[in-house]
Amino acid sequence: MCGIVGFTGQDNALPILLKGLYSLEYRGYDSAGIAAFTEHGLEVIKSRGRISNLEERIRESGGMHACCGIGHTRWATHGEPSDRNSHPHLGGKDGKSGKIAVVHNGIIENYLELRERLEAHGYVFQSDTDTETVAHLVDYLHTGKKEDLCMTVLKAVSMLRGSYALGVVSIDDPHEIVAARRDNPLIIGLGEGENLIASDVTAIISRTRKYIILDDGEVAVVRPDKVTVMNAFGDTVEKKVQEVTWDLSAAEKGGYEHFMMKEMMEQPRAVANTLHPRIQDGKVVFEDEGLTDDRLAHIKHIHIIGCGSALHAGMVGRSVIENLCRVRCTASVASEFRYENPIIEPDDLCIVISQSGETADTLAAMRQAKRAGAYTVAIVNVVSSTIAREADGVLYLWAGPEIAVATTKAYSAQLGALYLFAIKLASVRGKLTAEQEKTLCDALYHIPDQIEQVLKTKEQMQYIATRYANRASIFFLGRGLDYAAAMEASLKLKELSYIHSEAYAAGELKHGTISLIEEGTLVVAMATQPELYEKTISNIREVTSRGAEVVLVASEDFEGDTSYCSYVVRLPKIPHMFTPSLSIVPLQLLAYYIAVERSCDVDKPRNLAKSVTVE
Ligand code: GLU
Repeated sequence: MCGIVGFTGQDNALPILLKGLYSLEYRGYDSAGIAAFTEHGLEVIKSRGRISNLEERIRESGGMHACCGIGHTRWATHGEPSDRNSHPHLGGKDGKSGKIAVVHNGIIENYLELRERLEAHGYVFQSDTDTETVAHLVDYLHTGKKEDLCMTVLKAVSMLRGSYALGVVSIDDPHEIVAARRDNPLIIGLGEGENLIASDVTAIISRTRKYIILDDGEVAVVRPDKVTVMNAFGDTVEKKVQEVTWDLSAAEKGGYEHFMMKEMMEQPRAVANTLHPRIQDGKVVFEDEGLTDDRLAHIKHIHIIGCGSALHAGMVGRSVIENLCRVRCTASVASEFRYENPIIEPDDLCIVISQSGETADTLAAMRQAKRAGAYTVAIVNVVSSTIAREADGVLYLWAGPEIAVATTKAYSAQLGALYLFAIKLASVRGKLTAEQEKTLCDALYHIPDQIEQVLKTKEQMQYIATRYANRASIFFLGRGLDYAAAMEASLKLKELSYIHSEAYAAGELKHGTISLIEEGTLVVAMATQPELYEKTISNIREVTSRGAEVVLVASEDFEGDTSYCSYVVRLPKIPHMFTPSLSIVPLQLLAYYIAVERSCDVDKPRNLAKSVTVE
């Protein structure tokens, strides 16, 4: 997500910071800014939009000369992309004449609580961001104390919940940058008489190849001639110096060959960003999503609406919501919903799902539902997108920018958002005891770690891909939630590899489509729902006896005979209603590797667009 760069040395920091920001562009962003120590003091210039807008602003202000500064590319999570919300943020009572400037990547989960406290101490906030809380918090803890800035930052971060990579500067020492991290990347570049901080090596490589990686909980003091790293106790830590061994071109996409691979690998973080801030003390907490308990208690019917992968996430959500909450729920294709004269009542809830928040059909369907009197809630990734602005409530994914056309991490995050919603609804409507809610919340909380584990099937899926990349047609079978996941897996394969593929409800195949199964056809079967294991096994036998080869994705507790499967991929233990979050991962990898094997343009498949803004 987004980018940080900082420089302290003898040369003019400005071109170095700008170059660093440009090299971090590939991570995706919506605004950019810098703070630097000039002859006028701590100067901040920032702008919504491209880095070139920022450059323009700097030119208009007469340029800047400084030997130390920090820069940021923001990808909005809290507050719309705007000049005001761009980083750096200043700390100080009136928020303008600050002595502290902060850049931040990540999400401060307890920012509302901290904001209230700081406001009570007279701090006036200038932005809607969670980040500004950190700037004021550091100012609050630092002002009037004869303490090193790094000690204040250590204290401040111990009060933060959430994820962060931070760069902090103070006019007390205009040559020093203090850096800290938890769950968001940050490295320190080691130069000759100069040092840097950055989100990744792309931003330092033009100045130095030597760097150290800051670990979670550590704080670094970066000065032109010295870098000191401390742990949470303030003890100095010896860090291993690493050396960049590859050149700049390989550094793009964070070292991955494709954005899609980078984004698949980012899934644990992306899903954690959606889930973790909303799970507190064994409960799902919606703070500013517009979903009050009272509203949830009165819903009669839920319409879930989406297109493509968002619809597939919605299909999973539909099943989980109905099973857990016993509320009638339908999942509809947005482009159909609009024209089928749907029955919508005032106590209905309409959940619209769109990564970009700009999907034309979804937007139109949402407007229609609104006109009919339904309450609308958007599950979107891009902050302040049209759907997010027009919906009555928003559940942001906070998954970070997704650049590959075929979605991976946003789909996984959408599942997370729907699970949260289902648990919250079930709890409000008395369908879960506090203990059951806690058990589900604990399981939900650990999904990111489990996705991490499943990503280790990478080599196995790459191998399987080489075996089947030449097939003309590939089928995906599953029942219940596995059917919904099979739809997504099949779409991924079609989008990326241009191989014909169909996803079938496993029991439905014999009503026609089984005629397409012949010697050597690949069938990917999914078996993660215990009550359906036996049925699915029968369906697998139906296709293997007609010559199909089967790759089976199964839960850890699946004990059926697998001798007739060519390959079996096992998933870690998880409540069965959450299995789609895990079962999709090896199949994303399979689609990716088959596409690579067939030399397809993985990140930009033919005829597809990332954000479908036409009907
Ligand atoms: N949560 C912060 C914001 O919305 C930081 C976003 C980022 O990582 O760029 O400003």
